[in-house]
Amino acid sequence: MAALDGLPPLRDVIQRHGLDAKKALGQNFLLDLNLTQKIARTAGPLDDVTVIEVGPGPGGLTRAILALGAKKVVAIERDARCLPALAEIGAHYPGRLEVVEGDALKVDFEALADGPTRIIANLPYNVGTQLLVNWLLPGRWPPFWQSMTLMFQREVGLRIVAGADDDHYGRLGVLCGWRTKARLAFDVPPQAFTPPPKVTSTVVHLEPVADPIPCSAASLEKVTQAAFGQRRKMLRQSLKPLGGEALLARAEIDPQRRAETLTVEEFCRLANCL
Ligand code: SAM
Repeated sequence: MAALDGLPPLRDVIQRHGLDAKKALGQNFLLDLNLTQKIARTAGPLDDVTVIEVGPGPGGLTRAILALGAKKVVAIERDARCLPALAEIGAHYPGRLEVVEGDALKVDFEALADGPTRIIANLPYNVGTQLLVNWLLPGRWPPFWQSMTLMFQREVGLRIVAGADDDHYGRLGVLCGWRTKARLAFDVPPQAFTPPPKVTSTVVHLEPVADPIPCSAASLEKVTQAAFGQRRKMLRQSLKPLGGEALLARAEIDPQRRAETLTVEEFCRLANCL
């Protein structure tokens, strides 16, 4: 398509800079700037907002975020081969793109936030869930981000938004349900990526809830790990190592129930009774 920003088509950028995709880095690039704009728009208004992007790659999503008016994008990219392509985008939008070369799992994101901050990313699948969990568990709440708009494999997206009695409900659903309002925005088929991944992807949008139920993240992690570790068993069995029936009695939860039937509020009650 004709570029929305006067920059060269992404296919040319990739060719010129020799950015053949590396599987080990989860590189599945989006070359359709209509689609990257749709993702960026899902985040909400970007004026006066700093956007943190993980894995800009050749910059398709980065360009959309800047074209939609973000005050600044801070992009963390592990693959040094992408830096010259990103520098061209930076030159086109002077002072608005800061690229940090490195592993996003080691970055202090809170230190990068500057005023209202949104996270937008087409995440590398191998580290996507870990990054999400890290962003959900800062000590301070509300967190440094106002929203997260993230691409995942559809299966992971379903686990993020799942609630009680849903087949996809598990530890991730409890954690996300505890601290955020999460929704599936739209699916993206494999052929939208270069190279195409094996499965359908989905864009998830999360916003922090103002007052999550008071509860320690470590305790919540303990109860959900034990309960969903044996999800088909009754809780009196799966929670035995944590106190079993006595714990369930303190939390006033029927010991015959199974993990997938408990609401987030009930998991928090259990965590608080540990
Ligand atoms: N944003 C680009 C797009 O939408 O076309 C690329 C997305 S691609 C799915 C994931 C990107 O994350 C790649 O550019 C890859 O090099 C980068 N990446 C992989 N692991 C990373 C890590 N640990 N930290 C930072 N970036 C990483």
